[in-house]
Amino acid sequence: MKKPSGTRVNIMIMGIVVVVLALGFAAILGYGKARKQMEQMQQAQQEQEAKEAQITPMQTVTPEPTDDPTDPAVQKKNLITEIKKAVEHNDVKIMTADLRYTSQEGQVEAYTQEDVAAVLLHLKKNEKDYQAFVEKLQDESVIVGEEEGIQYLLLTDSNLRKMTGTEEPAETVEAEIVTPTPTPEGNGRKIAIDAGHQAHGNSEQEPIGPGASQTKAKVASGTTGRTTGVTEYQLNLDVALKLRDELEARGYEVYMIRETNDVDISNAERAQLAAESGSDILIRIHANGSDNTSVAGALTMAPSTANPYLSQEMIAECQKLSQCIITAFCASTGANNQGVYQTDEMSGLNWCSIPATIVEMGYMTNQEEDTRMQTADYQQQMVTGIADGIDQYFAS
Ligand SMILES: [Zn+2]
Repeated sequence: MKKPSGTRVNIMIMGIVVVVLALGFAAILGYGKARKQMEQMQQAQQEQEAKEAQITPMQTVTPEPTDDPTDPAVQKKNLITEIKKAVEHNDVKIMTADLRYTSQEGQVEAYTQEDVAAVLLHLKKNEKDYQAFVEKLQDESVIVGEEEGIQYLLLTDSNLRKMTGTEEPAETVEAEIVTPTPTPEGNGRKIAIDAGHQAHGNSEQEPIGPGASQTKAKVASGTTGRTTGVTEYQLNLDVALKLRDELEARGYEVYMIRETNDVDISNAERAQLAAESGSDILIRIHANGSDNTSVAGALTMAPSTANPYLSQEMIAECQKLSQCIITAFCASTGANNQGVYQTDEMSGLNWCSIPATIVEMGYMTNQEEDTRMQTADYQQQMVTGIADGIDQYFAS
């Protein structure tokens, strides 16, 4: 073989260079194209992301209005509403919310009711502080929580007294806040109410008092409305139930000996049930009857000082209770006042170890009184009168 000449070598090298250049150029072109495609894809992706980024915040910017009680914002709003209501009514007891704070040691502590009462009273008198107080509650530093069903505000790094500028609660503060309105918490007194008689009397005998040889029917059947035909046990129950509602509204706890006519409880048993219930006094509701149809009016019954079954102290209390009730009853109803009738023959008084009275509301044998006692208006007047008498008994 012949060696290639110098010229041919040069041509070959040039050819190779051209090919390489062509390939390189093509490669660059191709790469550029690919890169452009990639850039376009990236751009499209970025645009998509940007779109999504716009959509996403729009969804969260408009939260749906909620009344979810676990929502802290809702809880906070409710608590502020409660505080406003308490300030308005001057009554801290209507708050089911609880105010708490972090102490200097960083521990969560609750304000006492006296603390809150003092602050609310102060706020009531100082409108400017009140606004500041509400703003403070709305502030971020207030954390809302719930524990065993009680909502509370946690005041961080603050103190209610500091916030409102109040000093230690004065003696008068508590009195002013606590006394004005009876609350469901009650006044601490318990009243037993016995609606006299029952659907069927029980003529079995029982001693009229502890250790008595004298006996009486366990329960008599009572009288009947001469004009209305309504039975005494029904009238007694109707009024007793209304008296229960009235007394509860005034903050008394009430124990009912019976709430239906279909019972069989003797008078001695009623007296003992009343005492066992932990009641302070017993009110026995009855209506009267007389052969003389013109007789009308109300009376109460109490033991006399000669009563052998009761202590003098108890007799005095029964008489005082009877007097308070007949006075208030007749003031409320305008009924003819027949006063306090003293008797030692009543099993339901003799067996009773708490102060008791029998209220004879009116005569069912008197046409006018019988008719009047069946009206809702007069029943309410009677109930108001008895309740007023009970209030006065405890007040004096
Ligand atoms: Zn009776």
